[in-house]
Amino acid sequence: MPELPSSSLITEASDMIKTSGLMVVSTGAGMSSESGVRTFRGEEGFWREYRAEDLASIEGIRKNPELVWEWYRERLKACQELEPHAGYYSLERIQNEKEILPLITQNVDGLHQKAGIMDVIELHGSLRTASCLDSCGAPGKRMTEELFEILPPRCSCGSILRPDVVLFGEQLPEQALRRAFRLAESCDLMMVIGTSMVVYPASSLPLIALRKGVKVIEINPEETPLSSLDGVLSLHGTAGSILPEIVKVVYGE
Ligand SMILES: [Zn+2]
Repeated sequence: MPELPSSSLITEASDMIKTSGLMVVSTGAGMSSESGVRTFRGEEGFWREYRAEDLASIEGIRKNPELVWEWYRERLKACQELEPHAGYYSLERIQNEKEILPLITQNVDGLHQKAGIMDVIELHGSLRTASCLDSCGAPGKRMTEELFEILPPRCSCGSILRPDVVLFGEQLPEQALRRAFRLAESCDLMMVIGTSMVVYPASSLPLIALRKGVKVIEINPEETPLSSLDGVLSLHGTAGSILPEIVKVVYGE
């Protein structure tokens, strides 16, 4: 069993959740890696000879569409085989009790949705859908087995499809970004889970909340630049072990 933070810290976090109005959650790569999602920077097996920048970029797709799509097929398959850990289901429980729980994430794997979490704001896009590389305006397609039958998959206009993840050199989706910042401004409790606090803009969201006098709960195995700031309750450990403990205190078994 991983070590848990002291029960007084768990109680403190639970009280904050119980009494909060609009609570917002922000998750990073640590949330996914606890479920086994690897970062896939092109370091594995056959893919070792490629740089992630050459696979996950518009130029890469145009130059080598079959190869890049084969890579995404593997990534997607690896994600689909994974199951959300207990921490995801704890968040789903909080969502159901509070009725509103916007969740901002840097993860593209869809594990939050798989656990039943509904309001997910995906700052880095999603591996679950694909759309036209030439932005013809045709509706996107779900990334299912059938989509991968003939590589590269194509849009109804004949162009190649691209996954709806943010590729190297691309801007983050504007709408998602705007909503994330708005939520950081307007929430009255923010919970930050599994982020190293070094990737912008996710790293700036809790700082915006703190500046407004809003409390932040941090859950992460290691110390981060956020941990020692005033207004931050920092719980060190995995989300999969800490969140169920918190939920137990807030809502009972
Ligand atoms: Zn098209």
